[in-house]
Amino acid sequence: MLNKTLIIGAGGVGNVVAFKCAMNSTTFGEITLASRTLSKCDIIAKNIQKKTSIEIKTAKVDADSVDELVALFEKIKPNIVINVVLPYQDLTIMDACCKCGVDYLDTANYEHPDTAKFEYKEQWAKDKDFKNANIIALLGSGFDPGVTNVFCAYAQKHYFDEIETIDILDCNDGDHGYPFATNFNPEINLREVSSNGRYWEDGKWIETKPMEIMQVWDYPEVGKRDSYLLYHEEMESLVKHIKGLKRIRFFMTFSESYLTHMKCLENVGMLGIKPIEHKGQKIVPMEFLSTLLPDPASLGERTKGTTNIGIYAKGKKDGKAKSLYIYQVSDHEKCYSEVMSQAVSYTTGVPAMIGAKMILDKIWSGEGVFNMEEFDPDPFMEELNRQGLPWKIIEDY
Ligand code: NDP
Repeated sequence: MLNKTLIIGAGGVGNVVAFKCAMNSTTFGEITLASRTLSKCDIIAKNIQKKTSIEIKTAKVDADSVDELVALFEKIKPNIVINVVLPYQDLTIMDACCKCGVDYLDTANYEHPDTAKFEYKEQWAKDKDFKNANIIALLGSGFDPGVTNVFCAYAQKHYFDEIETIDILDCNDGDHGYPFATNFNPEINLREVSSNGRYWEDGKWIETKPMEIMQVWDYPEVGKRDSYLLYHEEMESLVKHIKGLKRIRFFMTFSESYLTHMKCLENVGMLGIKPIEHKGQKIVPMEFLSTLLPDPASLGERTKGTTNIGIYAKGKKDGKAKSLYIYQVSDHEKCYSEVMSQAVSYTTGVPAMIGAKMILDKIWSGEGVFNMEEFDPDPFMEELNRQGLPWKIIEDY
C-alpha cells in the first residue's frame, strides 16, 4: 500500500524535507506539506513540481492546536508525521500522533518559551504514551542533533572498545553578504548562542559563561577557525547511550563580526525573551529583532562557502589509544541549486528525510521514544552517502 507522509512546518528545513521526500517518492508515497501559512506550502509545492515533476499536496494547520492536528491526521491518514516547526510549541504534534496512532519524527528538542533552556525531559516523558499507542517517536533527526549522534554510534560500533571523549565540531564557513543575519530561525539561533555554555565531564555538567571557552580547530576543506563551546542538545542523550564516556563537548564557529554584533544587541537588551512595555504595547525584544533581521529563507541564494560538521572521538581499541574524526562537508551553492535552500537547512532536512525513511522501510523500528544513537548506524550512514551528505573518516587526526 502507498505510504502517506505529512510534513509540518514550511520553513527552510521543511522545504528541504519536502524536496527530498519527493525525490524518494517510492518510499514516501503521497506527501503533504502543512503549515500555518498555506501560501508558503504552495510556493514550495510549485518549486518541487517544477524541479522533480512530483506533485505534493498542501494543507493549512496551526500546530499549537491538538484538535486541528487530529482533524488533519484523520483526513490525510499519514503513516508518519515529520515535525519541522519551531521547537517550543507545546509538544502538541507528539500528542496528536499518540491520539491517532501515527509515527513521529522531529529535528530539535523542546525549548521553554520563557527560559532560554532546552532539554529532552518533556519528550522523553512521552515514552509511555508512544508505547501504549504502539508507535515510534524518533527525536532529533537533523544534523546536530541527528547525524552527529549517528556518527558517535558508528564510531562506537566499528572503531572503539571504549570512547572516552567526544568533541562535536560545527563549522559554518558560509558568507551571505549581510553584516548580520542568522542562518536559521533568529530566535532559536540567538537564544542558543547567548545562553551559558555547558559540557559534561566525569559524570556531571559543568557550566561556563557564554563564549568563555574557545579553541582553534582545523576543519578539513575549510581551515583553522575559532570554535566556541556551547551547550547543545545531543549531548544530553549521548551521555546516556555512549557507555564509558568521560567527557563530551560541543563547539561551533563564529566570526568576530558576528560576536561583536551579538554583544551589542545583548548590551542594549535586544536579546531579551521577556515582554517589555513599548508605547503602551507589550513586545518581546528578541521577537522584534527577528522581524528586523533578514528572513533566513532569503539567505539561500546569496550564501557561498561550505559547512563542516563532525565528531572527534578519543578512546581505546584493543588496549591501545585511538582517535577518530568523522565529518561531512556541504557546499551552500550546491545545496541551493539542488533544493533551493542553503546548506544549514539542507544538512538538517536530508537527515530528517533519512530518519523517516528508516522508519517507513522498517529498518529502524520500536515502540516508544528514541534518540538516533539507539539504532544501528550503518543503514543511516549508507543513506547519507546516497542522499547528498557524503562523509569522511580520518583515523588518528
Ligand atoms: P523556520 O522558522 O524557517 O520554519 C519553521 C516553520 O514552522 C515556519 O515556516 C512556520 O511557518 C512553521 N510554524 C511555526 N509555528 C507553527 C505552528 N504553530 N503551526 C504550523 N506551522 C508553524 O525554521 P527552520 O526551518 O529553520 O527550522 C525548523 C526546525 O528545525 C526548528 O525546530 C529548528 O530548531 C530545527 N533545526 C534543527 C537543526 C538540526 O541540525 N537538528 C538545525 C537547524 C534547525 P508558518 O509561517 O506557516 O507558521
